[in-house]
Amino acid sequence: MDYDYTSCIEISKSAYRNNIKFIRTQVGPNVTISSVIKGNAYGHGIENTVKIAESVGIRHFSAFSTDEAIRVLKSTTKKSQIMIMGMVENQDLLYLIENGISFYVFELDRLSEAIAASKKLGKKAMIHVELETGFHRTGFEWAEREVLLKLLKDNREHLRFSGLCTHYAGAESVSNSVRTQDQIKHYNDFKNWLNSNDIHFERYHTACSAATFSYPETIMDMVRIGIAQYGFWP
Ligand SMILES: *Cc1c(COP(=O)(O)O)cnc(C)c1O
Repeated sequence: MDYDYTSCIEISKSAYRNNIKFIRTQVGPNVTISSVIKGNAYGHGIENTVKIAESVGIRHFSAFSTDEAIRVLKSTTKKSQIMIMGMVENQDLLYLIENGISFYVFELDRLSEAIAASKKLGKKAMIHVELETGFHRTGFEWAEREVLLKLLKDNREHLRFSGLCTHYAGAESVSNSVRTQDQIKHYNDFKNWLNSNDIHFERYHTACSAATFSYPETIMDMVRIGIAQYGFWP
């Protein structure tokens, strides 16, 4: 015991396994459960969490930064997939592409930089195109759709369209229900428009913990589960 610390968190493998089982019953057998490990795995430690999560079958992790993604890469023993949901620095792009780490793109500059880096390496960048659907944080706006479409179409051979995603604001609160429904509709409209223009993605993913349980139509191909894997309601 190291008494320099005033508190510590214990994580029980059997409890964690039960939580994942419970989430699995909600999403069904074919949906990927991505374990969100940002913020040092919500304080539980990235390395510990990856080990426990992999032992109960998790093979996909969501980080917020390159640093966190590297810690997952160093601790995975199952070649799990790794995705970065936050900002990545241009100087990190080559490393990420080389190591098969996928990342969000939410603005035209970032997309152009990713294309440039993948050309340089001769290896496809694995991108998740984030849509702005009403959270007013990050993501492509509906008004940008034509420019986005052209960039994606013209650079097919340099990109893997790993995902199309968005994030719901405050989906845990009933008072946001109208806004959440609105976001779902915006996402689906944007998705259908891209599909009708022959742009398809490997995974469609939008749901955090709260959306997974409160809005089952947001589950799609993958859910990004942070707080619920640790047994808490958001
Ligand atoms: C944090 C985060 C999640 C997970 O949220 P929880 O409420 O902890 O499940 C999912 N997606 C994105 C983009 C996030 O930033």
